[in-house]
Amino acid sequence: MDITTSEVPPQYDEFRKSLQAFIGAHCPPLEWKARTGIRVPEEEHDVALLRQWARAIHDAGYVFDRFADTPGDPYEQRVLEEELGATGIPYVVGNALVAGAIKMFGTPEQRSAHIGPMSRGEQIWTQLFSEPNAGSDLASLQTKGRLDGDEYIINGQKVWSTWAQWADHGYLLARTEPSPGPGGITALILDMKSPGIEIRPLREMTGTTDFNEVFFDDVRVPVANVIGAPGEGWKVASASLATERGGVGRNLSWETVVRLADLARTTSRRGTSLGDDGSVRQQIAAFAARSRIQDHLGKRVETRAENQAVTAWDAPLMKIWFSELNLEMLEYGLDLQGPRSIVAEGDEAAYDDGFLQDAFLYARAWTIAGGSNEVMRNLISERGLGLPREPRGDA
Ligand SMILES: Cc1cc2nc3c(=O)[nH]c(=O)nc-3n(C[C@H](O)[C@H](O)[C@H](O)COP(=O)(O)OP(=O)(O)OC[C@H]3O[C@@H](n4cnc5c(N)ncnc54)[C@H](O)[C@@H]3O)c2cc1C
Repeated sequence: MDITTSEVPPQYDEFRKSLQAFIGAHCPPLEWKARTGIRVPEEEHDVALLRQWARAIHDAGYVFDRFADTPGDPYEQRVLEEELGATGIPYVVGNALVAGAIKMFGTPEQRSAHIGPMSRGEQIWTQLFSEPNAGSDLASLQTKGRLDGDEYIINGQKVWSTWAQWADHGYLLARTEPSPGPGGITALILDMKSPGIEIRPLREMTGTTDFNEVFFDDVRVPVANVIGAPGEGWKVASASLATERGGVGRNLSWETVVRLADLARTTSRRGTSLGDDGSVRQQIAAFAARSRIQDHLGKRVETRAENQAVTAWDAPLMKIWFSELNLEMLEYGLDLQGPRSIVAEGDEAAYDDGFLQDAFLYARAWTIAGGSNEVMRNLISERGLGLPREPRGDA
């Protein structure tokens, strides 16, 4: 399929300018430092500012498709994602996937109780899917919900729960039905302040605390909080994950190409600028070419989405391309810094206050998040190329 996603036309310049003015006036003064990736603030004060930020965006009339009943102007959506993304400040707090689940499968009561408040930053959500023994093989999850009157009693453990330490609600998958595998799973809305929930933040090698372990000990959840129907959790989760497909947005790998070029220009080795070194120039140019391909893959996914022609393997292909290019570029960024690469954020000798070091430490996360690259390759080969299914353990 040809790419028909065009550049944002000039008549959107005014929209962009007024959005930039809005950002200039309202961008929150956070203690927290904006870093690459899906990062979570350390301080409650910053979380409060991020809620206000989401509220200000909403009140100014900037509405994202993920929270709207009907899609908005596609170019305005792109400008919004580009400009707000460029601030490095989260503009949707917590996990945005849940809006898709509630929009597609929620009751009218659930929609009115959650979609607007999410959009206004009043509700922060965390996604409670992965478990210590159920990540790639999510259908084997073991957290249980036992029916007791008009409530489920939940017991089990989740891990990798991004934003859980600040979340008001959880988008929980639990096994409530007798059938094994996907058929036994139900999606539930969980009030994170319910008795019996323990949240243990995990500090990662980046130094930040983006993930948590979440434990459930006889946590009561009303049956009215089921999203869809009991036993339909797999369908709900699959559909909501598919709403978060890669599109044109910002090409994050291009920003790294620019950083590498700046680093080469401003770094000298044995009296010669790395920008004058032929092999360095060749390597950065090769990254630039691969980044352009990524841009085109993104536009291709966007075009297919506009034509309702996205296949299950379009976004995975782009995700693999981006995450592996990103990791290679950041490894190269550290190579270029030589011995200086070991000094990180906070050290006055660190280049660009250790931005590339932090991004390097985080880069592996992109190869895992949203389904590991190995699992994505299985999906491409089986569903895209029609190769035989990989052997299953019980075969
Ligand atoms: C940044 C980030 C944010 C996340 N946020 C959340 C969140 O908010 N909520 C949530 O529920 N989860 C979240 N996750 C978890 C994520 O969904 C899982 O990490 C992912 O599904 C992989 O599962 P796992 O970590 O258990 O690895 P495993 O499934 O144990 O995999 C371990 C290794 O084995 C490989 N492997 C597994 N199966 C196969 C196979 N069939 N063929 C070949 N190789 C295989 C994998 O590729 C990987 O290298 C997040 C992860 C990251 C990195």
